[in-house]
Amino acid sequence: MSDPAPLVLVTGISGFIAKHVARELLEAGYRVRGTVRSPAKGEATRETLRRTGCDVSGLEFVTADLASDPGWDEAVAGCHFVQHTASPFPMSQPHDKMALVPTARDGTLRVVEAAKRAGVERLVLTSSVVAVYHGHDDRVGSRFTEADFSNVEARSISAYSVSKTLAERAAWDSIADSALELAVINPSLVLGPLLDREAGTSTKLILAMMRGRFPAVPGVKFGVVDVRDVARAHVAAMTRPQAAGHRFIVTAGQRTLREIADAVAKAYPGFRSRLPRFTIPDAPIRLAARVSRRAASLAAELDRERVLDNGAAKIGLGLSFIGPEEAAVQTASSLLEFGLVERPAS
Ligand code: NDP
Repeated sequence: MSDPAPLVLVTGISGFIAKHVARELLEAGYRVRGTVRSPAKGEATRETLRRTGCDVSGLEFVTADLASDPGWDEAVAGCHFVQHTASPFPMSQPHDKMALVPTARDGTLRVVEAAKRAGVERLVLTSSVVAVYHGHDDRVGSRFTEADFSNVEARSISAYSVSKTLAERAAWDSIADSALELAVINPSLVLGPLLDREAGTSTKLILAMMRGRFPAVPGVKFGVVDVRDVARAHVAAMTRPQAAGHRFIVTAGQRTLREIADAVAKAYPGFRSRLPRFTIPDAPIRLAARVSRRAASLAAELDRERVLDNGAAKIGLGLSFIGPEEAAVQTASSLLEFGLVERPAS
C-alpha cells in the first residue's frame, strides 16, 4: 500500500487567504487539517471548498484559538507542514499600539512551539508587507526588500503593523535553535476572487467602495496582489527546498485607491457614480496627523513612491503576478456573484 499524502495544517482556515491556500493544497493532493474557532466555521469552510470542486473527503478540523493553549498540540499532531495564516486582522485599528500583540505574537509562538514539539518539517507563516516597510517615514522613494523590518517604535505605525512585525520576528527567533524550517510570505493588500460570501478585511475595501461609502479617498498608494498568487506562494514556500529560511514579498504593483476604483468602474460602468471619484487633499490629513496617531499612519502613506521588491518571490517561488487591476475586478465580480452588492438600478 502506498503512503498517505502528507498532512498540512492550515491555521485560521475559515479566512479569505486560507481557503485559497487549502484549495491549492487539496488540488495538489495533500491532506488538509484546518483550525477554526468554532465547529460551525469548519462546516461552512468544508461546504465552500466542496462547492469549488475540491475533494473534501480527507479534510478535517480542530478547534483552537490563538489566544489560548488548548487544541494546538492536537492540531499539529502528525503534520508534515504547517501553514500559519491566522492572525487578528481588524477593520479599524485599536488605539493601543500593542493591543493585537498578545494574540498575534503569542499565538504565533503557540503554533511554532507546538510544531517544534510535533516534529513538523516546515512552517510557512503569513506575515505582511506591513512587517517590512512601515515606520520608516524618512525613507521616501525607497526600495524595500526582504532585508527590511518595520520600525515598531515609530509614531505612525499602526497596531496591526506592530502585531505582524512582532509576530514574524518572534517566529524567526523561536526556530533559530530548532530543526523546524520557516519560510515567510509577506503579502501586500490581497484582492482577487472570494470563494464564498465571507469577505475578508481587505476585500471589504472594494465592498465599501461599491456600496458608495467613499465618494472621496485619500491619495495613498499601496501594493496589491491577487489571492490566487498569494496561495500559490504559500504552497511553493512549503515545497521548494531553497525557500526555507527566507521571506518573500508578494505584490504585483503599487496603485492608488482611485486607480483601484477606476479599474472596477471600467469593468462595471454602472457602479461609476458609487465608486470614489475624488481625492481628499493631503493638507488636512497632514494637519490631523499632528494630533492623531491614526491620521499619522495615513499621512505616512501619502505621496510615497516606494518600491516593494518582488524579485525574490519571482525567482525563489517561481511566481508571475496577476495585475492589481485584474485582482480588483475579480473581487468586484465575486461580490456581485455572491449578492454582497446589488447592481445600481439603470
Ligand atoms: P481573514 O480575516 O479573512 O482571516 C483571518 C483568519 O484568522 C480567520 O480564519 C480568523 O478566524 C483567524 N483568526 C483571527 N483571530 C484568531 C484567533 N484569536 N484565533 C484563531 N484564529 C483567529 O483575513 P485574511 O485571510 O485576509 O488574512 C489572513 C492572514 O493574512 C492574516 O495573518 C493577515 O494578517 C495576513 N495578511 C492579509 C492581507 C490582506 O490584505 N488580506 C495582507 C497581508 C497579510 P475567524 O474566522 O474565527 O475570525
